Amino acid sequence: MNISKNIKEFKSEIPEDIKLVAVSKTKSNKEIKEAYNTGHKIFGENKVHELLKKYETLAKDIEWHFIGHLQTNKVKYIAPFVSLLHGVDSLKLLKKINNEAIKNNRKISCLLQIHIAEENSKFGFKYDDIKNILLSKELEKLKNISIIGVMGMATYTNDKEKIKAEFDLLVKNFKEFKQNFFSENIGFKEISIGMSNDYKIAIKSGSTMIRVGSKIFGARY
Ligand SMILES: *Cc1c(COP(=O)(O)O)cnc(C)c1O
Repeated sequence: MNISKNIKEFKSEIPEDIKLVAVSKTKSNKEIKEAYNTGHKIFGENKVHELLKKYETLAKDIEWHFIGHLQTNKVKYIAPFVSLLHGVDSLKLLKKINNEAIKNNRKISCLLQIHIAEENSKFGFKYDDIKNILLSKELEKLKNISIIGVMGMATYTNDKEKIKAEFDLLVKNFKEFKQNFFSENIGFKEISIGMSNDYKIAIKSGSTMIRVGSKIFGARY
């Protein structure tokens, strides 16, 4: 695996305005450094303890994104430094993140995860859950959180039409939230969709941020 070659080629292939989160879960510090040394600064992890270890031992100017399912009792470990939480999927979790952000005297950026895939194993809000939270004005009280967009994962399938339809639905949801609740908020602008197998489809649907692991670092074992 030539990681530095992979990431350079990959970045030259995607449109410049798409943000790339290099998903480094299960990969070693040595492998991450190889990507970092090409100038790439945004990395994604999905396990709190693994992220913590890597944060402590790698360069401090790395922007760490947490892309997994976050348990409320673990927010405190990553609240001091995490740049963006992708998989936020409950009001309880949002409140917890806000509390930990206050303790750390910072604002934490979050994406609301919307469930678009057919599997019921995947986490995420339903469209109506988010709408109800926004209508309730509960979020406005959480001053130490910035909701900067939405995140989703398509069904794991080779059916490109199906993946496209799921991504299109998420983008439609995003636009409705933008229009009805965030029209004055220029910060609400990110759509985190697309992984190694479906990033091309995601970009066609309107992704602003893709999360790519195996295409850069090789398969995970
Ligand atoms: C692992 C993971 C990715 C990256 O997956 P690849 O198929 O290796 O690109 C993206 N998003 C989430 C939420 C993940 O858990």
